[in-house]
Order: sequence, then C-alpha cells, then structure tokens
Amino acid sequence: MSCLFCRIIAGEIPGSRVYEDAELVAFDDIHPQAPMHVLIVPRVHVPTLNEVDPSHDALVGSMIRRAAAIAAERGYAEGGYRTVFNCNAQAGQTVFHIHLHLLGGRTLAWPPG
Ligand code: 5GP
Ligand code: ZN
Repeated sequence: MSCLFCRIIAGEIPGSRVYEDAELVAFDDIHPQAPMHVLIVPRVHVPTLNEVDPSHDALVGSMIRRAAAIAAERGYAEGGYRTVFNCNAQAGQTVFHIHLHLLGGRTLAWPPG
C-alpha cells in the first residue's frame, strides 16, 4: 500500500487519532499550522476532489460535520475556524488521498497564501 493516509488509517503508521468511525478517521497534522490542525480523512481512497462523485455526497457531508463537531468540542465554534480541501499542485496538495484540513486557535488571514 503506497498511500500514506491509507497506511495511517490501517494503523501501519502511528498517528494521533482524535476521532474514528466506520467511514472516517481524524488525526493531528504532523506539521500543525495552527494550535488546532486536524485532518479529517475518509477510509476510502479518493485521490483528489476531482474524483469525488455523487456516491461520495454523504461521506463529504460527514467529513464537514465532523470538522464542525471537533471544532466545537475544542471551543472554537464561536470564535471561528477554517476548513480547507487542497486540490492538486497549485493549491499545494501533497498527499493524494482527500483530506479536510481543520484549523483554529489563531487568526487566519484571508486571502490565504
Ligand atoms: P496537503 O498539502 O496534501 O493538503 O496536506 C497534507 C498534510 O498532511 C500536510 O499538512 C502535512 O503536514 C500532513 N502530513 C504529511 N505527512 C504526514 C504524516 O505522516 N502524519 C500526519 N499526521 N500528517 C502528515
Ligand atoms: Zn489512500
């Protein structure tokens, strides 16, 4: 298995898991860009947002709602937080298994870099 996130999901590489269920795993980013930087990752391997199709609609909804739930648990619901999917090279995607970044705990600039 060559995909890094498939390996983390399978437990082959240790990660600091913050949530898991039948569809999703969430773990702390190894290079956090904010006090909270969690990656919400589906167990199914989908390389980029370009390969998301209607069969994934419920899954993507679950990812977004899970991000909101983790943010709320950590006290960031009121103050605010950011969710990001990077898609392909120009957006800076480096791991080709879709993941939703959840960032919070500091003021986040807009537009992003
Ligand atoms: P992308 O740049 O593809 O949107 O995001 C990939 C993210 O995965 C980066 O923020 C990077 O820090 C994180 N990452 C890369 N390798 C590992 C790893 O082995 N473990 C964890 N927990 N995160 C990783
Ligand atoms: Zn994968």
